[in-house]
Amino acid sequence: MMTSPVKGKLRSTYVFNFKKNCLFCDKKCSIENELKKSKERHDIIYNVCTLHFKQSVEDMAKMRNDEWGKTVLKRLDSVICLVAEEAIYHKSCERKFCKNISSQEKKKRGRPQDEDALKAFSDVCEYIEVGNECQFTLQFLYEKMNGTCDEKTFRNKLIEKYGEDLIITTTHGKKAIVSFKDTSFKILTEAWYT
Ligand SMILES: [Zn+2]
Repeated sequence: MMTSPVKGKLRSTYVFNFKKNCLFCDKKCSIENELKKSKERHDIIYNVCTLHFKQSVEDMAKMRNDEWGKTVLKRLDSVICLVAEEAIYHKSCERKFCKNISSQEKKKRGRPQDEDALKAFSDVCEYIEVGNECQFTLQFLYEKMNGTCDEKTFRNKLIEKYGEDLIITTTHGKKAIVSFKDTSFKILTEAWYT
């Protein structure tokens, strides 16, 4: 068992303070607390106000199928209605809790994955900029995007980012080649951005 001994012993009378603690992270959830933090770290606190919320968090927890999900499930199991409990939570915790699921779901449905695509693209750029190579096949670079966008979008992103430093040539019947004009691009990049 991963649960702490105290919680384990009191399992049948498990009490969670839904009015005061975030149902996701178990930390104190109060506006006063948030106001003490610097502005950019403020979290939004929500009251559970729909009956449906409990079910959807339970579904999410089951889909997560991890320790965090189990802990939250146990918390939810201990009450009948979150609205009646006046349960509260941090907006950021809800987002975190649901995040992995939604990206998995998105992959399944083949929907655009903006965040994943951005991350993958910045990894590709880093790869290009850090390495010593100046020439790649488009296909090779595109594979590093892990299917987060289509090839045409990827090509446009590259052109948008590197502009005149980049040439994409497609010889008939051959693979598209991405060439960076010369290493001055790299020196320039290093000089200006590091
Ligand atoms: Zn929280």
